[in-house]
Amino acid sequence: MKEKGRFLKKYRGNECLNCNVPLDVIDRYCHNCGQINTTKKLSFKDFFNEFFASIFSYDSRLRHTIVGLLFRPGMISKDYVEGKRIKYANPFRFYLSVSILFFIINGLFIDFDQVALQFNSDQKEAAEDAKRSKISAIEIQTGSPDTTKIAKNSSNEVYFSEAQLDTMGMFTAIRKRWKTYKSHYKTTGELVANTALDSLKHKQNTYTRYLYSRSIKTKNLSDNPMELLVFVFNKLPFIIFFFLPIFALMMWLLYIRKPFNYMEHLVFIFHTQTMFFILMGISILIDQISETEVASSIAMLVFLFYLYKAMRKFYQQGRAKTIVKFLLVNVLFFILAGIGSIITIIGSMFIF
Ligand SMILES: [Zn+2]
Repeated sequence: MKEKGRFLKKYRGNECLNCNVPLDVIDRYCHNCGQINTTKKLSFKDFFNEFFASIFSYDSRLRHTIVGLLFRPGMISKDYVEGKRIKYANPFRFYLSVSILFFIINGLFIDFDQVALQFNSDQKEAAEDAKRSKISAIEIQTGSPDTTKIAKNSSNEVYFSEAQLDTMGMFTAIRKRWKTYKSHYKTTGELVANTALDSLKHKQNTYTRYLYSRSIKTKNLSDNPMELLVFVFNKLPFIIFFFLPIFALMMWLLYIRKPFNYMEHLVFIFHTQTMFFILMGISILIDQISETEVASSIAMLVFLFYLYKAMRKFYQQGRAKTIVKFLLVNVLFFILAGIGSIITIIGSMFIF
């Protein structure tokens, strides 16, 4: 410990300048609030030394956390739970930072292009459809005077009248109404809910207008399974976030006889999920540059191996028991991820 500048003994006082707790001349720091025990007047040099010291201490925490997380599976969680905390970043804060980075990488590099491309082609398609349906509407109108625009018989068009919907059960009615609106948008390209509802001869209220505008926005999602997959993948950090407490509960049940409490399992979950996002983020970047999907497949395998090693280290159980629990964790994960995806897809239809 270097004793120079404001740390010199001659500057030490007998009371903390920050919290007024009595101090001794041997106290380098206040034992109550942690401030340096010094009465030296603030100098330019001291001020900037303090500034850089705080940056480097954060830096070394970050370095310890990243190195520990990457190269010593499970060790960082074990250290943290056993009380060696000061050299690591807070697991939850680190998890949040990494998943935000993952969102940015994923959003910036992959989807922007795809979404933009999809959007353009959709607009073109809608415009062409609209042109076509206008022509057929005119043809029908000139053919027989009492045929309305809605009654035209395009082969894949779905139409249910308000009267028909009234006779159905609640959920069937919602589904049929939804299909009618989607189909109407597809054939006419009509973006204004009022106009669309008018030409469909449907009643106008908050609910029908809302449903119509939702049906426009979710048009692509259920049409193309690949897009659905991309959509879910983009929401992954979001889905996983809400399932973290459940994952921790899962670990708690699997290791019920181990002396860990719920929070300690949660620390393990934060660390492994952080590792998951680091691996996925890096592999997405590599895949994007190399235009393949090799890296993300490798990353998945690396993560599975990592998870196994982490479970072994953190929970300190034999190979056989760990393998069984590892398999259970994966099965449960896929079930939960599946449920999460379904909830997200259904939710996104209503809360865009
Ligand atoms: Zn103090």
